[in-house]
Amino acid sequence: MEKSVCIIGAGWAGLAAAVELSRHNIPVSVYESAPQIGGRARGVQTQGKQIDNGQHLLIGAYQQTLALLKTTGINEADVLYRYPQKLQLIDLQSHQKAFDLSLPRLPAPLHLLFGILNCRSLNSKEKISALLRFNALLKKPVNKDISVNKWLTQAGLPEKFIHHLLQPLCLAAMTTHPQQASAKSFQYVLQKTFFAPASHTDLLIPKVNLSQLFPLAAKACIENHGGEVLTSSPCRKLVYDNHQLRGIELDNQFVSAQQVILATPPWAAQKLLGDYPATQAIAEKLKQLEYEPVITVYLQYPENIALNQPMLGVLNATTQWLFDRRICWQPGLMAAVISARGEHEQWDNKTLGQHISRELASLFPHWPEAESIQVIREKRATLQCHVGVDGLRPGPDTPIPNLYLCGDYVLYENNRPSLPSTLEAAVESGVKCAQRIIQETP
Ligand SMILES: Cc1cc2nc3c(=O)[nH]c(=O)nc-3n(C[C@H](O)[C@H](O)[C@H](O)COP(=O)(O)OP(=O)(O)OC[C@H]3O[C@@H](n4cnc5c(N)ncnc54)[C@H](O)[C@@H]3O)c2cc1C
Repeated sequence: MEKSVCIIGAGWAGLAAAVELSRHNIPVSVYESAPQIGGRARGVQTQGKQIDNGQHLLIGAYQQTLALLKTTGINEADVLYRYPQKLQLIDLQSHQKAFDLSLPRLPAPLHLLFGILNCRSLNSKEKISALLRFNALLKKPVNKDISVNKWLTQAGLPEKFIHHLLQPLCLAAMTTHPQQASAKSFQYVLQKTFFAPASHTDLLIPKVNLSQLFPLAAKACIENHGGEVLTSSPCRKLVYDNHQLRGIELDNQFVSAQQVILATPPWAAQKLLGDYPATQAIAEKLKQLEYEPVITVYLQYPENIALNQPMLGVLNATTQWLFDRRICWQPGLMAAVISARGEHEQWDNKTLGQHISRELASLFPHWPEAESIQVIREKRATLQCHVGVDGLRPGPDTPIPNLYLCGDYVLYENNRPSLPSTLEAAVESGVKCAQRIIQETP
């Protein structure tokens, strides 16, 4: 039987597309190669603990993601802990607070104005300079892409504002070191966050594991609408006939389809698209993309051990952000996040785990030793969001009229910079891809 829409890949992008199509009564079949759904944002069960393949953070600016949760029937408060931006960064060397920014619940841009004016980490001169120059920086378009470091230095912002706030934010948001990261993309992220309603700066920390946060509810929603989500079902080949896609080949099975959405990560899309002359140009571009790792080190302490806030930034250390998993009902469990490349990648899990444990012991001398340590490495966690990366990112359309692309690497609107590869980028591309098909379906 011919399927209406086949979606290859059950990460957040593929599932977002499937939910959107299901809501419009277009039946979908989702094929996922892994034994579980969720892709790069999923829960994992290891050593008797339910953790994530990597600690994730969402922000209030993730409007597409929040809207999708709602349409899937998920109540935000059940799955996300929302609190107004309260960033605290501590310096491992001095053990002093390096930066402390709390944005009050005021309409934008007053929240930023009062946040910076009340920031104790800056003196009066630095506050005025930060306010004026940050505002100018976000307003002036970056015509020719340059690195974030160059862009920030040229703006003449106070050193502390750059090193203790904007550079760590760049690394967190783009998983790319500021000396390589694209100023165009970072400016877009900052505009979406700070030149927007005050709620966009809220931090949203998952209260449940990542599979429960969206993928499992998405699967239920798809099935309730007559669709299906099949795991351990890798697509091996796209099958064409006369410049149209006829369907997809699974292991020992051909599935005929009217429309196909390729929602795999770029490296898997590259393989499938490289097979056919008309899509080889896209595959060639994808080949040039580079990736950045994210490592999460989970450290279990006795249940009474806690941070004063749900997350804490760490400067001059291998640990970049520390999350207290008490929010996910896991008291005593800390998740230390290390984004992007660095010498830590060369260390084995034991060495890395012990190193992070020593950093935490130095920051919190009253904590006992961790009872257990687990290291989860994702070598290709995100796209490297380097200068000029948008030139390599494909759009959703392909030369084959019934084949579309979606995923955190797909560029949705040519006239605006892309989002770095995040859950929001994945969801946005999935929903918009589905909307294209909905518009074209009589
Ligand atoms: C450790 C880590 C930390 C992160 N932290 C954050 C964060 O804090 N905030 C944030 O917003 N983002 C974060 N991200 C990024 C975010 O998780 C990704 O951008 C997002 O999950 C990508 O979703 P996707 O659907 O585009 O791709 P994927 O999740 O890669 O989904 C693609 C799916 O396709 C499947 N597939 C591949 N080949 C085939 C095939 N041939 N047939 C069938 N299926 C196939 C894969 O198994 C996968 O399930 C993080 C990522 C990682 C790994």
